[in-house]
Amino acid sequence: MDFETFVEGPLLWAVFLALLAGVALRIVFFFIKTIGTQNSPGSASGIAHTLHTFGRLFIPFHMAAAKKPFYATIRYVFHACLFIVPIWFSGHVALWSESRFGWDWVSLPDLWSDWMSIILLGIAAYLFIRRIVSPYINLDSQKSDYALIIIVSLPFLTGYLSAHGTLDALPFFGDNMLTIHVLSGEAMILVTAVLFCRTRLNPAKCTGCASCELSCPTATLETKDQGNLRIFNYSHYQCICCGACVNTCPEDAAELRHEISLRRLFQVLPKQEIRSVELKACERCGALFVPQPLFEKIHRTFSDDYLNFCPNCRKVNIGNFYRTLSRSYTNTKEGQHAQVDRANASG
Ligand code: SF4
Ligand code: SF4
Repeated sequence: MDFETFVEGPLLWAVFLALLAGVALRIVFFFIKTIGTQNSPGSASGIAHTLHTFGRLFIPFHMAAAKKPFYATIRYVFHACLFIVPIWFSGHVALWSESRFGWDWVSLPDLWSDWMSIILLGIAAYLFIRRIVSPYINLDSQKSDYALIIIVSLPFLTGYLSAHGTLDALPFFGDNMLTIHVLSGEAMILVTAVLFCRTRLNPAKCTGCASCELSCPTATLETKDQGNLRIFNYSHYQCICCGACVNTCPEDAAELRHEISLRRLFQVLPKQEIRSVELKACERCGALFVPQPLFEKIHRTFSDDYLNFCPNCRKVNIGNFYRTLSRSYTNTKEGQHAQVDRANASG
């Protein structure tokens, strides 16, 4: 079997199987975590919650979109092109029709597929350049973030070039463009099989308040206070990418990202630590009572010394304060009465 036949035959079926396994695993976890699981007291549960969450994945009109409308719009257009073109491109539909399955469905006009590919490539170029030039995003980017954009764009670029014969005059590309296109498509499918949603708590903004934990409907995001640290743990398999943590975060610090990880494919049950925050000790009793970044933020607005005390010591302190006040009031009154008595006696 020559390389071309291998790429377009057994290898293609193997990556389709890997994709099916990856998607099936995520669907199983999605339903396990949504049906009958409820962490947030205000959210719906069971099938209603599942449908609501599922709808939020596909309908862009929710709070996360309102926070960043431009980014949300191009993200949805990008993902729409990503799904529609490979499935409804006429060349792909013809291949399925000619395959042993004989499956056939309506296809897009070629002009539409061309324009959707061009739009996708334009957005991919924007996202790639933005990652390089924006200091905030650049600082936070990993090599896999850049690789993901390239891997996702290549099948569309090579598909467009192959369909239009743009590079047919070049010696190597002229003969092998279709094989390059199939190989790049297979790389994208394989990456999709090991692609995870990852919630990230941006350390530059996160105060450790744990509102995101309270809003997480699947209890995927959870905190544990250990020693003088508050640890945030997270499991990519249990996250349903609902965005509730992003919507809830008062600091705009919770973000949802894509992550490519073969290692995490096999980490089904264990949770990973994604953030730790130091806890501040009460200056009176030493009890740990508030995340340090949250304390510093509040202290910038209110510089009251009472903030240094835990809620219990604050109560004791307020009690002492009122007792002192009451004693000084009583003393003052007694003093005034004594003065009046002395004045009456001398008068
Ligand atoms: S809600 Fe936001 S600020 Fe609070 S712990 Fe979560 S990410 Fe950090
Ligand atoms: S997106 Fe956030 S709130 Fe939703 S399941 Fe994942 S961690 Fe929980």
